[in-house]
Amino acid sequence: MPYRLWRVSLKCTNSECVGHQLTSGGLHRRVRQVLDIDSYYNLVTETLICTKCRSSYLSWGDAVLQQLDLAHRSEFRVILTQKHAIDIRAIRFLRERTMGNGPVRLVGQLKENHSEQWLQRVNRYTAECMGFRNNNLGLQQMSFQRPPDPVELPSYKWLLTVYSKDILHRLDDIKAAITSTYGSILKMDSTKKITKKLSGPAKGTAQWMTSVGNEFGQVLISVLTTDEGNGLDAMTAGLVERYRRAGVSPPTVLYVDCHCCKEAGDTKLKQRFGGWPGIIIRLDIWHFMRRLAGGVTTDAHQLYPIFMARLSACIFEWDAEDLALLRRAKREQLTKEGLPTASLTDVIVDNCITKAELALHCRRRTRGTDNTIRLLGKLIEELSGPKGRDAMGVGLFEPVRIQHLWNIQKRHVGCIQDLPDVPLYTQTGTLNKGGVALKTYRCARGSTSLESFHCHLARFIPGSPLHNMTPCH
Ligand SMILES: [Zn+2]
Ligand SMILES: [Zn+2]
Repeated sequence: MPYRLWRVSLKCTNSECVGHQLTSGGLHRRVRQVLDIDSYYNLVTETLICTKCRSSYLSWGDAVLQQLDLAHRSEFRVILTQKHAIDIRAIRFLRERTMGNGPVRLVGQLKENHSEQWLQRVNRYTAECMGFRNNNLGLQQMSFQRPPDPVELPSYKWLLTVYSKDILHRLDDIKAAITSTYGSILKMDSTKKITKKLSGPAKGTAQWMTSVGNEFGQVLISVLTTDEGNGLDAMTAGLVERYRRAGVSPPTVLYVDCHCCKEAGDTKLKQRFGGWPGIIIRLDIWHFMRRLAGGVTTDAHQLYPIFMARLSACIFEWDAEDLALLRRAKREQLTKEGLPTASLTDVIVDNCITKAELALHCRRRTRGTDNTIRLLGKLIEELSGPKGRDAMGVGLFEPVRIQHLWNIQKRHVGCIQDLPDVPLYTQTGTLNKGGVALKTYRCARGSTSLESFHCHLARFIPGSPLHNMTPCH
């Protein structure tokens, strides 16, 4: 009853009344029962009347609620539907996104709470009745009313409906939270995996899904477009505008899966990000490696994993200090596990270091354009010869194709180099291994998080699995 209790001045929403003040029309005759965590409570409201147009309002209606300031509005914590009403405190449990949380479980929990509370009240009631009878012993015959039956709870379906209402109430906040994601190292990745799963009326309405992520693995935006090119203009303009309005400085690097550079002048992509003139566009290294891998006869070839590992070694080098420290820690750890120190050769220690340990504790950097071109050229030449054959004598490469690919991709070796002034690693903590304190790092390079996101989405959308879907990496 905002008018009666707080003397809030409320206006008629009828446009002809031009904000005429409403006056009290007494209490509304209908009392609502509100579902709370462990019981129902009663809710009454006031009627408000416009003396000009004679229309009447209820204070629990949207027309009045929308006129309240935030502090007073949040005092009214009830979601009303046609038949039932619920207290926000009860529906809030659905906001928790943990395993197994859902409307069915919530109904179960509410039933438990309600029946316990009901029993307690019946207990109290009968105890009072007993006391009353004992005090009046012998004076007159006494009979008591039965305690009221427990009120039935609404179905889980109704809870779900109300929960979506709760979301609609908070839509602005949710939107604000989603669009408040920024980052200084961005990655952009496009896929057809998701649009291929669209079926029914939506089938064929979109071609690509493009997402932009940041160095923390958060997704800034995801859009569906009919073509990868022009469709992205609105998205980039929106991103530039988002940074500008929030006063956040523009990102420094953007990693992409294609259109990184052109022989001369700016690429379409660079023009599209015209709002960020300083942004440097880099080719994602994994995509670069995949392009070269297109020159193999089959990725089931015996030498394929070795080729990929050596490709990576031609591009990256480990930080020598980080690596030395990890080796020392591993050696200590193995000694503590009881392996005799004398038998621990460098090779054995290195073999015990896992890929995950390397990625967690050691930083990598690119080797520089000239170095990588020289190393890659050597690797391709070597594996094009007899060394590139498996036990059956089948070559790893299609000789003409790999040479052609290498000639095209050579120009992008400059595009995959780390930028000298952009730190790509953040220390996330330290870890004790064998008595040696090792730093743990998070790397901002690479678009693995986006690809995982796309993979997840594709699996999340129900539908028949696609025959030509490439496995997720
Ligand atoms: Zn009016
Ligand atoms: Zn390039």
